[in-house]
Amino acid sequence: MTLMTADAYIDSLRQMKKRVFMFGDEIEDPTDHPMIQPSVNAVCMTYELSHHTDHEALLTVESSLTGEKINRFTHLHQGTDDLVQKVKMLRLLGQCTGCCFQRCVGMDSFNALDIVTTKMDQALGTEYNVRFREYLKHVQAEDLVVDGCMTDPKGNRGLPPAEQSDPDLFVRIIDENNEGITIRGAKVHQTGAINSHEILVMPTRSLKEADEDYAVACAIPADDEGILYVYGRQASDTRKLEGGNIDVGNIRFGGHEAVVIFNDVFVPWEHVFMSGEYPYAGELVETFAAYHRSSYGGCKVGVGDVLIGATKLIAKYHGVENASHIKDKLVEMIHLNETLYACGLACSTEGARTSSGTYLVDMTLANICKLNVTRFPYQIASIAQDIAGGLMVTMPSEKDFSHPEVGPLLKKYLVGAEPYPTEWRQRILRLIENLTLGLGAVGYLTESMHGAGSPMAQRIMLSRLADLEHKEKLAAAIAGINDH
Ligand SMILES: Cc1cc2nc3c(=O)[nH]c(=O)nc-3n(C[C@H](O)[C@H](O)[C@H](O)COP(=O)(O)OP(=O)(O)OC[C@H]3O[C@@H](n4cnc5c(N)ncnc54)[C@H](O)[C@@H]3O)c2cc1C
Ligand code: SF4
Repeated sequence: MTLMTADAYIDSLRQMKKRVFMFGDEIEDPTDHPMIQPSVNAVCMTYELSHHTDHEALLTVESSLTGEKINRFTHLHQGTDDLVQKVKMLRLLGQCTGCCFQRCVGMDSFNALDIVTTKMDQALGTEYNVRFREYLKHVQAEDLVVDGCMTDPKGNRGLPPAEQSDPDLFVRIIDENNEGITIRGAKVHQTGAINSHEILVMPTRSLKEADEDYAVACAIPADDEGILYVYGRQASDTRKLEGGNIDVGNIRFGGHEAVVIFNDVFVPWEHVFMSGEYPYAGELVETFAAYHRSSYGGCKVGVGDVLIGATKLIAKYHGVENASHIKDKLVEMIHLNETLYACGLACSTEGARTSSGTYLVDMTLANICKLNVTRFPYQIASIAQDIAGGLMVTMPSEKDFSHPEVGPLLKKYLVGAEPYPTEWRQRILRLIENLTLGLGAVGYLTESMHGAGSPMAQRIMLSRLADLEHKEKLAAAIAGINDH
């Protein structure tokens, strides 16, 4: 098998025995749990579109490792065209799901690991890249979902791993033998972890010699008995348990994050891709981050398209769509959204080949892309809330609209412009609520701020990458300052 179907994906998850905790209880069947089902549905879309005649060309590609047709989410980018196609694929999926579809952290990790393990092998004579590519062939052949697992709990942010009061606040190697390594620690904010097949652990920051044990990258089956998952709750998440489909806003899709705890997990050497090589930890983080910062120029734009559409609809339902200030605000939303897309495309077309053969995005432009992502979705959301009006946050529940006494009254008094039914108004207001301050805001807003690194991380990269001396020389030459 190289292209899994959505149904086969769901079956494969049901066969996994993961230990998942939610609201203080261990849950039996996470795949079919109503809290998690929307995120399974969102990942399903990455499989459905790979079999769809209109989208197959974007979602599938020939493997550089095996020549087989594979899902693009498991691909190593072989040219700038691959990087561009990735951004287009993510925009499409954002448009189809209106949420985070979770599979890109794994994809971006594959490409980063391919580049950095190659450099390690070239400099150190190790064989990490050979191992990694064998592992990736397996991922491609089985079309697996892999959680790119980078962010540690970090404790005191001012201290490196080895100086923390608890040595487990960053994932570390606690034992090593001829067979493999044993790791302990936890990772936080793990997107899609509960509906992943594999966990791909990587370091979260640059490391020094004292932190050697923390320089670890490895792959683990997601149902390893030593792994515990604790579901991360989201604003208004229990609406998913209420039985209706209006108040959730997005009726089918959603994302999730989880705390992943590694209770002394053994990893055989064939799945270990870094073990103590601390000088390469920082480069792995930066390379992954550059890919993921460019990915946001696709997925957030697709979700932005949904929010712009919702805003246009609510203006129509309110009878104000032709007002000049509404038209102008919609144009502003489009401008902000397409600027993000332009950044995603620009860092992709300016990408370059690395020594592994895998193409890397332009680092400066990828960081610009993410820095804009930390701001523009918030501005787009602000305009959406302006045009939506206050009912978005004061509207009674779906059940009240069905109540025999107050239901008809609510439908009468909360109607908008004719001929649009009150229920359409309800649905679109709930969608805008979802994306700007509810379940969807986790992915559309807070993840835009912190995902792939908080804004300061991009500013630090930009200050390092921008050749300011070159700019000084340009100015000096133009102004006639000699011997600068
Ligand atoms: C929705 C969502 C999904 C995510 N998905 C994933 C995922 O799938 N995989 C994954 O590995 N990670 C994921 N992340 C994690 C993401 O990369 C982190 O949130 C990000 O790196 C910031 O880390 P933090 O949340 O611990 O915040 P912190 O690091 O605590 O940052 C909070 C603030 O403190 C500042 N700060 C931090 N350290 C210092 C310091 N030493 N000195 C000065 N200021 C400092 C930061 O600049 C920031 O302003 C996700 C995050 C979110 C919100
Ligand atoms: S935030 Fe975007 S790029 Fe990251 S996993 Fe979700 S959909 Fe993919």
